[in-house]
Amino acid sequence: MIDFSIPADLVAERDRVRRFVTDRVIPFERDPRLTAHGPTDELRRDLVELARAEDLLTIQAPKEFGGRGLTHLEQAVLYEAAGWSTLGPVAMNCAAPDEGNMFLLGKIADPEQAERYLRPMLDGHQRSVFAMTEPCGAGSDPAQLNTEARFDGANFTVNGRKWLITGAKGAKTWIIMARLAPSPELAAAGLEPGPTLFLTDGDQPGIVIERTMNTMDRNYVAGHGVVRFDDLVLPRSALLGETGKALRYAQLRLAPARLTHCMRWLGAAERAQHIAIEHARTRTAFGKPIGEHEGVSFLLADNEIALHQCRLTIWHACWLMDRGEQARHESSMAKSFVSEELFKVADRCVQVLGGIGISDETVVEMIFRDMRAFRLYDGPTEVHKYAIGRKILRDN
Ligand SMILES: Cc1cc2nc3c(=O)[nH]c(=O)nc-3n(C[C@H](O)[C@H](O)[C@H](O)COP(=O)(O)OP(=O)(O)OC[C@H]3O[C@@H](n4cnc5c(N)ncnc54)[C@H](O)[C@@H]3O)c2cc1C
Repeated sequence: MIDFSIPADLVAERDRVRRFVTDRVIPFERDPRLTAHGPTDELRRDLVELARAEDLLTIQAPKEFGGRGLTHLEQAVLYEAAGWSTLGPVAMNCAAPDEGNMFLLGKIADPEQAERYLRPMLDGHQRSVFAMTEPCGAGSDPAQLNTEARFDGANFTVNGRKWLITGAKGAKTWIIMARLAPSPELAAAGLEPGPTLFLTDGDQPGIVIERTMNTMDRNYVAGHGVVRFDDLVLPRSALLGETGKALRYAQLRLAPARLTHCMRWLGAAERAQHIAIEHARTRTAFGKPIGEHEGVSFLLADNEIALHQCRLTIWHACWLMDRGEQARHESSMAKSFVSEELFKVADRCVQVLGGIGISDETVVEMIFRDMRAFRLYDGPTEVHKYAIGRKILRDN
């Protein structure tokens, strides 16, 4: 039988997360350290300490690393509550890109790498980046990867340029995707050429942060960087997983990561709806509260329907993953559907608020702008639909 009930202990934890975000985190939404390039590191550290004090830090971590080893469904319930403020996931150390990077490192880092890089991230002491997208290479199609690594028999030398690299400035842990060039030295070492992941420190010569991009979103710590690798020399111990397998590892990271984006943004969209409902109840026009005009009540009703459908779509993909399935198709459908629908929810909330909807009098304006980016990362909608379409043609 399909059971949609949430166990009582999970309800209690969800409510605790919501209270934490409401009482402790939301006051920081007006903090000047929430800049046009996202929260500063200092703000992040302050928020992390609040979550640590409430035992709400990195709750998704595997049990062997001191976390709760949440199932995907449990994550869906708690991340939705965390997303009530875009700073909630930052405080609880379950925001992108760290959350996905921790997941990936938990799967493929060797014990030494896990101790050196993963442990401090789980403890909330370090941030990380995943550097894949390039101005003229990898993007929607990661196979277009241009950044190149050459092996000389002892070390790798990486050269290339990336952009849209979230959190680049100040991140300690770097996961870099580069194409490993074939060579006699590589063959002699028994290593496969092709797309490869490297794991290294951010503060070293060879990693040049050209600038932080000015973007319309501001929920990610340190914003998004343009980065150059200038003869970046890495030892063999910097290999993350096996050579030639980066695209497979990226998929391993992306399937759950795109779902956790859906969970957090669902919480943010609900917050926008909550603010819009309050406005519709109290603001009057033409002799009655605007919410009593059918045009406004329909906007709010459409939002309610969309939020409900998004939640069910997320839960279904999570349910499949908790049963051990990869759910690539379902998580792809969820990502494209949820990102499109939640953006419409945010847009309707702006409309219900009237002129103040586009101002920072409420947080709805920020949610609207931040939500726009969600339709692009972890696969633009069209790319997911392209994959879904190919599967339909293959299977029918
Ligand atoms: C806020 C944000 C944060 C990001 N953070 C990171 C990060 O930390 N690390 C990182 O490596 N990257 C990051 N990215 C980059 C992100 O992964 C890319 O934007 C995404 O993969 C799309 O690549 P692109 O921007 O190069 O778009 P392009 O590949 O140039 O695609 C442009 C458009 O073409 C269309 N398109 C492409 N392929 C198809 C297709 N098969 N069918 C139909 N239409 C298609 C889509 O509409 C797409 O939006 C981030 C992006 C954003 C917006």
